[in-house]
Amino acid sequence: MNINNIYIQDISQICDNKLNINILRADVLDPVVSGNKWFKLQFYVRDAITAGKTTLATFGGPYSNHIVATSTYGASMGLHTVGFIRGEKPVALSPTLTDALENGMTLHFISRQDFEQKEKIISHNQDPNWAWIPEGGYGVTGAKGAKSMLTIKDTTPFDTIICAVGTGTMMAGLIKAAAPHQKVIGLSVLKNNISINAEIKALLTPEESKKDFEIIHGYDFGGYAKHTPALVSFMNDCYKNMELPLDFVYTAKLLYGVQDLASKEKFDPTSKILIIHSGGLQGNRSFKKGTLCF
Ligand SMILES: *Cc1c(COP(=O)(O)O)cnc(C)c1O
Repeated sequence: MNINNIYIQDISQICDNKLNINILRADVLDPVVSGNKWFKLQFYVRDAITAGKTTLATFGGPYSNHIVATSTYGASMGLHTVGFIRGEKPVALSPTLTDALENGMTLHFISRQDFEQKEKIISHNQDPNWAWIPEGGYGVTGAKGAKSMLTIKDTTPFDTIICAVGTGTMMAGLIKAAAPHQKVIGLSVLKNNISINAEIKALLTPEESKKDFEIIHGYDFGGYAKHTPALVSFMNDCYKNMELPLDFVYTAKLLYGVQDLASKEKFDPTSKILIIHSGGLQGNRSFKKGTLCF
């Protein structure tokens, strides 16, 4: 894990060079511990160690970037990890869960119904040595970690920061980090997730809530982790033309959305845009071999 590997790539060609568009390549941090998950986890892990905990416990789906990141990060810090996984145990484990197991994570499969009641899961699994991390790293602690994504490189020349939004924890961190001349735009990858605005604000101070930010809906491609042939061919084009690998759950929808918004003149022609590549490439392993050219 070396944050010095992270760099900024000019991808203005995605809008025929009509705008200045760059991307922060946080995906290169690690192929599995995708960019933003490591950042969101850092203070949860530090706090757990400070409190003398031996185990990280968290939640996620069978392809969860957060689950595999927690298993890798926890193991690297000498902590045990426990993952409560949504749904019945499948006959064949996903590559994500196989990695998590190999990293030493204990997996508990929870029916979809019971998975919705996280408080119950926590109360049935009380252990003083465990530190619980909310699903997706959602929380002020996660946002504080994501804040440092904007300080790895000099991001002050940019006036528009754009990211994908799941739980909104990363976006909250970027809003915290944003300078007065910067606007943060988030593209939601969940369908009609109208509560996201309040969920992000819950992670901000009243002062931070007054900063310039906007959440855009409509680029979910049918919902979380859904995809279409158009999205897949967009991903292949981005790789062929710019050597830019994208994941289908978050960053492909993000880039597609930015290109579409640019074509609709959403952005001022003088704006300097920085897109956040938050990683997630491990999730592409759920595609059939040969679907993607990378
Ligand atoms: C989890 C994830 C996100 C969403 O982050 P949130 O903080 O939950 O909004 C975006 N991109 C990638 C690649 C992710 O894995």
